[in-house]
Amino acid sequence: MQAWVIGNWKQNPATRHDVNALLDDLLFAINEKEHADATSCQLMVAPSCIHIAAVNDRLRNSSVFCAAQDISAHSASTGAYTGDCSAQQIVDAGAAWTILGHSERRQYHQESHGCLLQKMTHALTQNLGVVFCIGETQVQYDAKETLAVIDAQLSVIKVLLAQNPEFIAGLSERLIIAYEPVWAIGTGKVPTVAEVSTTHRHIKQTLAGFNETLDNMTVLYGGSVNVDNADIFAADAMIDGALVGGASLKAESFLAIAMAFSRTTA
Ligand code: PEP
Repeated sequence: MQAWVIGNWKQNPATRHDVNALLDDLLFAINEKEHADATSCQLMVAPSCIHIAAVNDRLRNSSVFCAAQDISAHSASTGAYTGDCSAQQIVDAGAAWTILGHSERRQYHQESHGCLLQKMTHALTQNLGVVFCIGETQVQYDAKETLAVIDAQLSVIKVLLAQNPEFIAGLSERLIIAYEPVWAIGTGKVPTVAEVSTTHRHIKQTLAGFNETLDNMTVLYGGSVNVDNADIFAADAMIDGALVGGASLKAESFLAIAMAFSRTTA
């Protein structure tokens, strides 16, 4: 299976100048022979909404994909939804994917399962691939509720397919799951590889139970992945890549992580 390494830039960089500087570094390094391996895993970056069109223009002749970090829950297209950006607008700006359900959206914007069902429906209606983030909080982890939390979060996909059976065609190519324990995001704390592996196996089995065509879905790990720990996550057969926050803001660390995952899929 091809590995994916996705950079979630969050609300960074601050200026168009800094976005271009990051892209300069990234594209230069990808072209360097020493980083040639990095292209054997699929790279994707998710800039702020306002930078998507410009980033996509710069990535047009590269192998790197561009994603949004979120889309509107209210309409797939247009409407009186001040501040929102729709799936259609994201596609028009050049992105082929969107992240949905990131824990920061769930936490700061109170995104519910119902809201995420709406967003996923709109994304797939507009042929936008979805990187769906799931994961437990520290309290839930301590209470050993990880798998129960994940089951509840994955039930959004079950409902989606019950309501829109037509979405199953090609869904295995348009849906990626990112398992991100909330307590590991931006904290420097990580679960053990064995814990991640067990959880990923459970996610893959659960999705296969929804529909037989979802029998080997791409499941990424996210949460404080860096140049020092990427190798150990990449070595596990259940971990198909990484969703990277902080370390994606420097080309060097982002590509070092990509190279770790490239080596295991070469
Ligand atoms: C994220 O925001 O999805 C993330 C994994 O962040 P970090 O790598 O900084 O923990």
